[in-house]
Amino acid sequence: MLRFKSLGSGSSGNATLVEASGLVPFRLLIDCGLGLKHLSHRLGQAGLQPQDVHAVFITHEHGDHIGCARALALRYRIPVWMSRGTHAAIGSPDFDGLLHIARDGDAINLGGLQLMPFTVPHDAREPLQLSCTDGASKLGILTDLGHATAHVMAHLEACNALLLECNHDAEMLAQSTYPAFLKKRVGGPYGHLSNTAAAEIAHTVKNPGLRHVVAAHLSVQNNRPTLAQAMLAEALSCAEGDIVVAGPDNGCGWLQA
Ligand SMILES: [Zn+2]
Ligand SMILES: [Zn+2]
Repeated sequence: MLRFKSLGSGSSGNATLVEASGLVPFRLLIDCGLGLKHLSHRLGQAGLQPQDVHAVFITHEHGDHIGCARALALRYRIPVWMSRGTHAAIGSPDFDGLLHIARDGDAINLGGLQLMPFTVPHDAREPLQLSCTDGASKLGILTDLGHATAHVMAHLEACNALLLECNHDAEMLAQSTYPAFLKKRVGGPYGHLSNTAAAEIAHTVKNPGLRHVVAAHLSVQNNRPTLAQAMLAEALSCAEGDIVVAGPDNGCGWLQA
């Protein structure tokens, strides 16, 4: 069984646990955008300790994703995957042999999990998002991108679950107190997905095997959980209550992919 749980989502910090159960469960942490103390605390709330994480995948160098990745890796000897561009963007620090380079389209096989990283349009050096499968079901992780490309959509085909960025409501962003350059960046083709863009993606990904779509990376200032839920529910022809929202502080509960 493949299950996942957000430990927190949004510009204050992102971290998502993915677990492939087997005789020995394998746990992947996608992004570490929290301090080590906070991350340990949230793992503790899930009944886990940092040493229960077997591998870390970092999507890109923005602080809300990279956070304590190096400290976590070095302290607990956990291997870390990231793109060469992401590693360069953080100053190419030494990971004491724990760093592995992830590349668009190159599968990574880890303890019963297969990760497939893919390039997304976002204002980072070499950002990657990914899908994860245990051979039976497939989870798509898609945050931090300005728009959906054909390449992105091809990688999300036949997903059973999708953690999907719903960053902002376009109207709220336009009306917000953000300075003009920031509005342009967030709403631009290398920024973040609006609820409308996310709904279009959800509609395209929709298939009979799709069990969960989780709204993630919501802006506190420029979005509301109910707006994201309404947009996704309409796109998926489901009830608004069926759309789980991953919040900034508590993420969401375990969901089966
Ligand atoms: Zn982010
Ligand atoms: Zn980002």
